[in-house]
Amino acid sequence: MTEPIVIVGAGQAGIRAAETLRKMGWEDPIIMYGDEAWPPYQRPPLSKKFLAGELEEEQLLLQGEAFYERNAIEFIPGSRVLEIDPAAHQLDVSGRDSPLKYSKLLLTTGCRPRALAVPGADDTRLETLRTITDVNRIRGKIEHCSRPAIIGGGYIGLEVAAVLQGMGKQVTVLEAQDRLLGRVTSPEVAEFFRKLHGGHGVDIRLNASVIRLETRGKETMIVLDDESEVAADFMLVAIGAIANDELARQAGLHCYDGIMVDELCKAAPDIYAAGDCTRFPLPRYGRSVRLESVQNANDQARAAAQSMLGEGDPYNALPWFWSDQYDVKFQIAGLSDGYDALEMDGDPETGSFSVSYYRDGKLIAVDAINAARAHMMARRTLA
Ligand code: FAD
Repeated sequence: MTEPIVIVGAGQAGIRAAETLRKMGWEDPIIMYGDEAWPPYQRPPLSKKFLAGELEEEQLLLQGEAFYERNAIEFIPGSRVLEIDPAAHQLDVSGRDSPLKYSKLLLTTGCRPRALAVPGADDTRLETLRTITDVNRIRGKIEHCSRPAIIGGGYIGLEVAAVLQGMGKQVTVLEAQDRLLGRVTSPEVAEFFRKLHGGHGVDIRLNASVIRLETRGKETMIVLDDESEVAADFMLVAIGAIANDELARQAGLHCYDGIMVDELCKAAPDIYAAGDCTRFPLPRYGRSVRLESVQNANDQARAAAQSMLGEGDPYNALPWFWSDQYDVKFQIAGLSDGYDALEMDGDPETGSFSVSYYRDGKLIAVDAINAARAHMMARRTLA
C-alpha cells in the first residue's frame, strides 16, 4: 500500500476530487481534512433558502455518512492542516502528534470573506457569511433586527438583501461603486437588479463608501465618505473574498491572489490545487483567472484528480454561475469582462431577457435573467 492521497479542505472541490479518485480506481487511502465541523456541504443556499429557513443543515450536505464508509474516504472534521513540508512529502495537522506522510496532496482550501478595514469594524453587529456557523449566528441576530444594512452590492449581498426584505425588514444596501454587481456583469444588467431591489423596497445607495462605524446604543451609525450616516441594527459585509493560500505560501508554492497551478491543476511536484483557492490559466479566455463558483470547484477538482492519477487533460472548462434573488434566476455563461459590444435579447421591463457579450466579434459570454433556455443554449454555443 502506498502513502495516502491527502485532501486539505472539505468543501465542494474536496469532495468532488475524492469521488473522482475512487471512480477512477484509486484503491489506496484517501484522507480529507476539514477545519469546519461539517462534512462537505453546498454553500450557495447559505445566502438563499438556508438563510430564509427553508432548508435544514442536513439538506446542504453533498454526501451522506454512508458515502464516506462505502468509498473508504477518511474524513476528519474540525482539523486544520498547519504546515506542509513538500520535500519530505508530509504535513502537520492540528490535534495530531506526528507528521502525516502523503503520496500526493490536493489543496482545496477555498476562500474567506474580505474584512471591512475601517475604524469600528469590530462592532458585534457586523457579520460576514461563508459557513453554516456564520448563518446560524446571523439568523439569531436578524430575528430581532428591523433595519439591516448590507455593505457590498455583489451577488451575496444582494441575495441576502432579498431574503431580509422577504422577512419584512427595512434593508439598505451600500455599494462603493457607481453600480451593483461590478465584478460580475455589465451596467445594463446591474441596472435591472437595482430596479428589482428598489421595486421591492430595498434602499440601494451607490457611490456609498463606508469610512467608519460608530456604535450608538441600540444602533450603529455607518458613516459614509461624504460624512452622511446610515443607521443599522444589523450589518453584513459582503465585499468579496480572499483565497486561503497561506498554507501554500508557507510551503513555498507560487501564489498570487490564489495558489498558482498549471493547466493540469499542478502547483508543485505531487501537489495539486482546485476550486476557489486557485489561480489558473484558462486557454479559452487566454488569461489566468481565479473563479469562485460551484462549476469551477466541481470541474477543476475532477480535472485535478485525473491529473493526480496521471490521466489529466488540460483544464479548459466553460465557466458558468447562477444567483437567485426574489423570483429572479440570474445565470451567467462565460466571462464577460473585457467585452467590446453587447446585444440585448428581450426587454428587461418584462423581467425576462438575455445579454450576449462579444469581443472582436466573437461571443464570449451570455447573461440570462429568467431565461433558462437562453442560458443552456449559450453554454452549448460557448462550449
Ligand atoms: P470551499 O467550499 O470554501 O471549501 C474549502 C474548505 O477548506 C472550507 O471548509 C475551509 O474552511 C477549509 N480549509 C481551509 N484551509 C484549511 C486547512 N488549512 N485545513 C483544513 N481545512 C481548511 N457559487 C455558484 O456557482 N452559485 C451560487 O449561487 C453561489 N452562491 C454562494 C453563496 C455563498 C454565501 C457563498 C459563500 C458562496 C457561493 N458560491 C456560489 C460559491 C461556491 O459556493 C464556491 O465557489 C465553492 O463552495 C467553492 O468550493 P471550494 O471547495 O473551492 O471551497
